[in-house]
Amino acid sequence: MPVCDFSPSHVRAIAPYQPGKPIAELARELGLEESSIVKLASNENPLGPSPRGLKAAQDSLKEVSFYPDGAGFALKAALCRKFDIAQQNIVLGNGSNDVLDMVARAFLDTGTSAVYAQHAFAVYPIATLTVGAKGIEVPAKNYGHDLAAMRTAIRDDTRVVWIANPNNPTGTFLPWSEIAGFLENVPSDVLVVLDEAYGEYLAPEERLNTLSWLDRYPNLLIVRTFSKAFGLAGLRVGYGMGHPDVIDLLNRVRQPFNVNVPALAAAEAALDDSAFLEQSYEVNLRGMRQLIQGLDSLDISHVPSKGNFLLAKVGDAIRINMELLKRGVIVRPVGNYGLPEFLRVSIGLEVQNSRFLEALKACL
Ligand SMILES: *Cc1c(COP(=O)(O)O)cnc(C)c1O
Repeated sequence: MPVCDFSPSHVRAIAPYQPGKPIAELARELGLEESSIVKLASNENPLGPSPRGLKAAQDSLKEVSFYPDGAGFALKAALCRKFDIAQQNIVLGNGSNDVLDMVARAFLDTGTSAVYAQHAFAVYPIATLTVGAKGIEVPAKNYGHDLAAMRTAIRDDTRVVWIANPNNPTGTFLPWSEIAGFLENVPSDVLVVLDEAYGEYLAPEERLNTLSWLDRYPNLLIVRTFSKAFGLAGLRVGYGMGHPDVIDLLNRVRQPFNVNVPALAAAEAALDDSAFLEQSYEVNLRGMRQLIQGLDSLDISHVPSKGNFLLAKVGDAIRINMELLKRGVIVRPVGNYGLPEFLRVSIGLEVQNSRFLEALKACL
């Protein structure tokens, strides 16, 4: 198609994001019932949505003839109450990926660069390359971010550093003190994006209120999501918190009605669903133990994870993945992350984890 030849070369260079295979697709291919398939491929909450969030979304549907509140006032007000910040510190996204994309469009350009770690979340290079900026990938240390090397990699034209803590797909976690040290050393004209998508899965003693850093570091943007522990991935809501000037720039490139009516309602209600959050944490903790034990008994090593997923070193991941699919189990190969020997397995309910372990045992 000649028209495609005129797409900017930096766009044509982007490797497409590879999502988890949908349950319905595998069911069609195998001629199986959808209910017989186990999907542990997208770090979704195996408990389903927050019940409070679900109810609020359902109740909001009668209002969908109206545009959503483009400012997201009610959800932001709930976030303000919960985190003791102001509305002008918050930007809402159609999923936190939307916020990451806004960062790229507001702070990057051709002639600039952004730094991220090897094996870091795939959206960082995609967002960076989309706007024609250069992506600087820094080799990982023990599968995680090497912050000292990332600091050294920052050039004069670097405008953004992307950090995920815990990181996806590796589950690696940096002590908060290391991130604080990094923030102290980063030039103040570089925006540090701290992606806390899995923060709710940290043990209580590992959690830190990183919002307390915002006063000291106006070049820090903290990004969180309702997709994981709140169980609202399909509604697409995330948010960024930072200095009002940073938020103002993000809002300029934001689509005016980027978060839809049921998503706003569900997120606002789910935010205070502490019983559900607690349950999500507990189920994940138990499932993580179960998976580790199961993998150990199969002599399969894994990368220690602080998320709701685990990287298992299976060897020929392409073959094993095919075999698992035939048995109705969907996990995520991560060759595109430079991890060809691994499969990423999301933590499921006990029966789902068992199905995965049995299927894995059968195809080794
Ligand atoms: C899942 C995930 C997100 C969340 O993406 P949404 O767009 O909010 O669904 C963000 N960052 C990382 C590292 C993730 O793994």
